Amino acid sequence: MIQQEHYDVCVIGAGPAGSTAACELAARGLRTVLIDRASFPRDKVCGDGISPRAVRILKEMGLHDEEVFSRFCRIEGVRISSPGRRLMEVRLTGDPEVEEGYVIPRKVFDHFLLQAALRRGAEIREGCEVLEIESAKRDACIRARTRQGRTFSLHAGYVVAAWGAHAGRLLRSRRTAPAADRLSVVAVRAYFEGVEPGPPFMEIHFDPGLVPGYGWFFPTGRGSANVGYGMRLDCLRARRDREPLRSLFRQLVETNPFLTRSLRNAAQVGPLRGARIPFRGVFRPLARGRVLMVGDAAGLADPLSGEGIATAMRSGSLAARSIVSAVGSGDPRSEASRTYRSDCRSEITRDLLCARILQSILVRPALVGPERLLDLFVEKAQQNARLARAIARLVIGDLPRTAVLRGAAWKKLFRALRGRS
Ligand SMILES: Cc1cc2nc3c(=O)[nH]c(=O)nc-3n(C[C@H](O)[C@H](O)[C@H](O)COP(=O)(O)OP(=O)(O)OC[C@H]3O[C@@H](n4cnc5c(N)ncnc54)[C@H](O)[C@@H]3O)c2cc1C
Repeated sequence: MIQQEHYDVCVIGAGPAGSTAACELAARGLRTVLIDRASFPRDKVCGDGISPRAVRILKEMGLHDEEVFSRFCRIEGVRISSPGRRLMEVRLTGDPEVEEGYVIPRKVFDHFLLQAALRRGAEIREGCEVLEIESAKRDACIRARTRQGRTFSLHAGYVVAAWGAHAGRLLRSRRTAPAADRLSVVAVRAYFEGVEPGPPFMEIHFDPGLVPGYGWFFPTGRGSANVGYGMRLDCLRARRDREPLRSLFRQLVETNPFLTRSLRNAAQVGPLRGARIPFRGVFRPLARGRVLMVGDAAGLADPLSGEGIATAMRSGSLAARSIVSAVGSGDPRSEASRTYRSDCRSEITRDLLCARILQSILVRPALVGPERLLDLFVEKAQQNARLARAIARLVIGDLPRTAVLRGAAWKKLFRALRGRS
């Protein structure tokens, strides 16, 4: 039986981008439905790092509940090791300019955000896969299928496309195909229990032979940690040894001295799982007619760190605001897309472009190899607290990437690398 209903907005995907959008739309009185093919709480392959930028957005939305968040691992600092086994450590607690960050398993975090959207009045259809969207002049038609195989359609004034990295082609005759290899990182992660006690620092490890990829150790609290490794897809494919990512991960956890120390009595719980992080290409659409693309669906993760939760939430929020203002001004069809594109440019994509420039410099530096460059950075950061703090803030996603546009920032960096403060 075919049922048809009408909503102001249909949000496809209840990850951080979709739930943030639904939260803001429902709070402003728009009839909003979320559709997700999964049933919540659901797992999502991720490092689980909730950056200071994401925490800032939660606070703006009135969702940073101290009581809830105190149950999770609050990040107190950053530790980075270079291929030459140099280690830099920066404590960030007590730094008035740095917002706190957390490590929260996505199964918990995404469910928390979804519950907030439902409390504010959004509806959810779980276990329903969207098959197709047709964006027309008056509204959009969304066709979906339940897990039991029943198909249904609904109409919505607007669609927020928050389907993440793996939805393929959902928009009829529009390009939503996967990004090119150089615009993707592939990464694997596993949870470990029984890790050695230590300060709750986010750890990033660059290993000889495994650069330009990097490994991470993010403590999730109570003796457990999320441990992973990722690399740009084109760099992985260009490796002469053709080793799959999971073998490189094993090599990392078995040979990196900092990781072997933390994991010497630990056991892996659950499987090693992998996923892709897509980045933004110049021609990737942000909006088409009544469909606004947010989060990974628009390639909004940071190419430098792979961090995508904060930009997913920010884009979800910007899409919601654009729709609310278009509806308020009599609903001219293209106004929401226009406002959304322009807000994204000033608040997200300019920063991402700078992150891409920085990523390219680190992956293929001009004068020295990437391993030597990383050694040099860590060595100088060991001697220069300001440089160390700047690197730590870049890693946790607290420093705007647009800093690369400032000549003064480069001057300071070169002075630090030449040994002057
Ligand atoms: C290994 C790895 C580690 C990472 N580590 C971090 C980190 O530590 N910190 C960080 O900030 N970011 C990290 N990221 C990036 C981050 O996971 C993503 O950028 C973020 O999840 C994007 O959120 P989203 O809401 O756009 O998409 P998602 O979180 O992927 O949500 C998309 C939702 O859409 C649903 N969906 C998909 N297709 C359909 C369909 N056809 N119909 C209905 N529903 C559908 C899915 O079920 C899913 O629930 C990592 C990514 C990877 C792969």
